[in-house]
Amino acid sequence: MTLPVSPTDLPALKQLRQSLHQYPELSGAEFKTAERIVSYLQAYNPSKVYTGLGGTGVAAVFDGKVSEGPVVLFRAELDALPIAETNTFSYTSVQDGTGHKCGHDGHMAILAGLGSLLHTQQLQTGKVILLFQPAEETGAGAWAVLQDARFEKELRPDYVFALHNLPGFPLHQVVLRKGVFAAASTGMVITLTGKSSHAAEPENGLNPGLAMAEILLSFDKLIADKTQFEDLTLLTVIHARLGEVAFGTNPGHGTVMATLRSYLPADLQKLKIRAEQVVAQTALRHGLQFGITFVEEFPATVNHPEAVGLVQEAGLALGLSVIEAETPFRWSEDFGHLTHRYPGAFFGLGSGVSQPQLHHADFDFPDELLPTGAVLFYQIAASILNS
Ligand SMILES: [Zn+2]
Ligand SMILES: [Zn+2]
Repeated sequence: MTLPVSPTDLPALKQLRQSLHQYPELSGAEFKTAERIVSYLQAYNPSKVYTGLGGTGVAAVFDGKVSEGPVVLFRAELDALPIAETNTFSYTSVQDGTGHKCGHDGHMAILAGLGSLLHTQQLQTGKVILLFQPAEETGAGAWAVLQDARFEKELRPDYVFALHNLPGFPLHQVVLRKGVFAAASTGMVITLTGKSSHAAEPENGLNPGLAMAEILLSFDKLIADKTQFEDLTLLTVIHARLGEVAFGTNPGHGTVMATLRSYLPADLQKLKIRAEQVVAQTALRHGLQFGITFVEEFPATVNHPEAVGLVQEAGLALGLSVIEAETPFRWSEDFGHLTHRYPGAFFGLGSGVSQPQLHHADFDFPDELLPTGAVLFYQIAASILNS
């Protein structure tokens, strides 16, 4: 098989990446970003474009010379983060407090680069779908796209692939893993309700402060006992708030929020139940009412061995360094909703050993990765649709 050549319009792709960076939008509000993508892709003459998928999502379909055949989907994310940028370059974010600090601007430009390759080097059979998904950072977007009736009816893929740039790994290195690639996680919101009173008469109220402290200590004990879980399982309290800032008031309500995380779904289920028991027992002992809700639920991203094999072959054919990650990554990724339903693989692409970490204020996607990602995706698609 002849190897694909790099997109011929790299300057335009780089410009696209930098303008996406300059105008970042938060999860679920990626309206201008989606418009920018749709208008950019027109140059590559896609067979069909879907908009408004699961909110702001965009899917561009590129038919092969014969449109019958497998459907291969590649995904990028539209959203940025509520993190203020500290970089000072010509394309610094113009949105106060918002920045592309996960490199989704680069992932989008890679997918546009794949569109460029599909336009200039049309595949033989089947279809390639470029999916630009909203709201990855909140875990809501992939699920919302799947709920859109058009997805299952008109787009239904046979394979799904996505990549994430990985700071700390050598530039262009492909990082694979069979089975679990990224952890499952969920946010837990606990509310405790007692009764407020004058701060001078605490005996007439019911202050949830001590119960909150006990819950925090019990959570610490719960997660320290590693013997009850099969694999890595974590609980991190991320927020706690008692009453209002009012020195005259004995507070009557409190909130605790935590992130629960594990590699295995069964461990997360067990942790959720144990954490709920801690809250219920503590609230009961203190005579408090309580509420528990789970938010931002991400399933584990579990890779299909055949799809991982296709990524590996493509990486090696292009002469890239390909390594297998020994353990899954601790962060979560909502692409797990797609790999749960369709055979697929999520993999890492090294973005440099000295690159600032994801979600750090000084992160910026390295443009050198644009052709690598686009050509790698194209090679994967070609191995399925040109054979
Ligand atoms: Zn992120
Ligand atoms: Zn990300």
